Amino acid sequence: MILRLYVLSDLVALCLAASITACTIPSLSEPWPHLHSETPSDTCSGPAEIYTMLPTPKKGYGLFATRRIARGTTVILEAPLVVIQPPPLTLGQGYEISKMLDSLRAEFAKLSPPNQKRYLALHAHVFPSEEGKERLMPILRSNAFNTGTGLGLFPIVARINHSCRPNAAYFWSERLGRRVVYAGRDIEEGEEISISYIPLLKTTKEREQRLAQYGFTCECEACEASRGGDSRSDDARAEMQVMLDQLESEVLVPPGEGLMAEKKEEGLIKNSLRLVDMVEEEVLVDYYAQVYKLAATTHGRSRRWEEGAGWALRSLEIREMADEHSAEAMEMRQMAPRFILESKKYMGEGLC
Ligand SMILES: [Zn+2]
Repeated sequence: MILRLYVLSDLVALCLAASITACTIPSLSEPWPHLHSETPSDTCSGPAEIYTMLPTPKKGYGLFATRRIARGTTVILEAPLVVIQPPPLTLGQGYEISKMLDSLRAEFAKLSPPNQKRYLALHAHVFPSEEGKERLMPILRSNAFNTGTGLGLFPIVARINHSCRPNAAYFWSERLGRRVVYAGRDIEEGEEISISYIPLLKTTKEREQRLAQYGFTCECEACEASRGGDSRSDDARAEMQVMLDQLESEVLVPPGEGLMAEKKEEGLIKNSLRLVDMVEEEVLVDYYAQVYKLAATTHGRSRRWEEGAGWALRSLEIREMADEHSAEAMEMRQMAPRFILESKKYMGEGLC
């Protein structure tokens, strides 16, 4: 069997604020219970931070809010411990691992002994064919995130457990060379901080397949509801994926002229607003900026400038939570005033 690596997805590929943790990287816990190699006695003992690492009943250790964390707050800002450049990605098949091992070994050899220890302390889901073999690749496979064109290992971010309805979102900031994790919604004191390891517009079955590489079965509220026979979340996610794909491709085509074209554009607006409602109802914080941008775009295509500007500003708000200087934030910062200017022009034309 060729083992392939699926990277924890940069879903909306987006999205800084402040509060980098004062803690040094803790050299401890495994995210899942069966592979603990260090004890929580290594946890940060510095000043009170917005999160702490605690054991969970079924998922090993996780990060928990030590106080209420307001939406948009930066939870973690972390540079990768190791980065490797993978071979070209075959869509749907992941990366071929054998081609990456040599570069991973070379990068690991460059680490200081304490950092090698931090690397090796991380969780690894080991496939049967890897039993008894070196853990470098299983650890990378179980914890890697995109770093632009590379794959990076982030020891603190790696401690955050997965949820299919996460309360935090993340973003690789090329400008900062850091992965940013920020609160996608308000997180209550004591609540576990969660992110998603996979694309979320999938059914529970599809998500289970993608999560198999990490060696656990998700028991978040969305998965449990589906297993209990409530298909509403699955149905909505499947529909959202179809709508998102359609809208993303349709807005690439310039709008036409005439009544038929106007009707089509009205349909796009309607669909984009329905998609926003569905994403918000399912609380898929990773997708907010993307669907708000789509709503801005569909309104702009129909010269509904003011409404479009409003949606662009909502998208900008989310982008700024991650990195106010990111290309995505800049795009929205340009779109909103452009729409407002067009709106004024349009009103002026109407008065003439
Ligand atoms: Zn789940």
